[in-house]
Amino acid sequence: MSQNFKEIFKNLDEKTSKHLIKELLGIDIEKPFENIKRILCIQPHPDDCEIAIGGTLAKLSLEKKEIVYLTLTDGSFGTNDPSIKPEKLAKIRKEEQERAAKIIGINKLIWLNYKDTELPYSPDVRNRIISIIREEKPDIVLAPDAWLPYEVHPDHRYAGLLAIEAAFFSSLPNINRIDLEKGLETHEVPLIGLYYTSKPNFIVDISNTFNIKINALKEHKSQFQNNWELLILYLQGIGSFYGKKINTNYAEALKIIPKILLHIVPIVEII
Ligand code: ZN
Repeated sequence: MSQNFKEIFKNLDEKTSKHLIKELLGIDIEKPFENIKRILCIQPHPDDCEIAIGGTLAKLSLEKKEIVYLTLTDGSFGTNDPSIKPEKLAKIRKEEQERAAKIIGINKLIWLNYKDTELPYSPDVRNRIISIIREEKPDIVLAPDAWLPYEVHPDHRYAGLLAIEAAFFSSLPNINRIDLEKGLETHEVPLIGLYYTSKPNFIVDISNTFNIKINALKEHKSQFQNNWELLILYLQGIGSFYGKKINTNYAEALKIIPKILLHIVPIVEII
């Protein structure tokens, strides 16, 4: 164990933890996007990245960060309309997501195409995500918070777990070793950012990109055409809820966690 790590555990408490993480790990969780280039945003369904943090992603895109979307399921069950078959909806949603991502400023989209509501929580899926992390080499992985209380959708809970497990394990050569045989290298993901979180520790002012977020979400017609007013109320409500915390109109929230603290560190909850 490094001297730095020893110091952290000797002194860790609520007041000093962020300072210690910054001083001793060299990671400023209050400025997680400052010195990074590549971002992998993992979402259970087409639209989640934009609903949760579309304003943040648009802002980062304007700052010339390279952002890749990884969508785990095909979204084929996301309708109340019995006339739309799953195969057709999957195709529609892929096209909607591509258009929406372009508005946010993202051109690279990767799909794993698991069936909506049936994302398997398995080592196989995790290994596929690990391979993608080793290919894309992100400086931060963004994913839903698997521990959001009362989150009913299994794709969201499993996507959150799979994403951070993959980010955590992508540096270990014996996990999905076949990647190395194919010429990929292990990759260290220093930071994780969880969206749809009830324990945010980083609030992003999105007042200048809120409209970009709205315009991107307008592309998800199959999801919101019939309940657009409700969606706007939701987005404005959540946006101003977080906005008030930093005295701005609209904001989005993330829980930023250094990867090294993602295992057997109970104090992560309070950083
Ligand atoms: Zn979703």
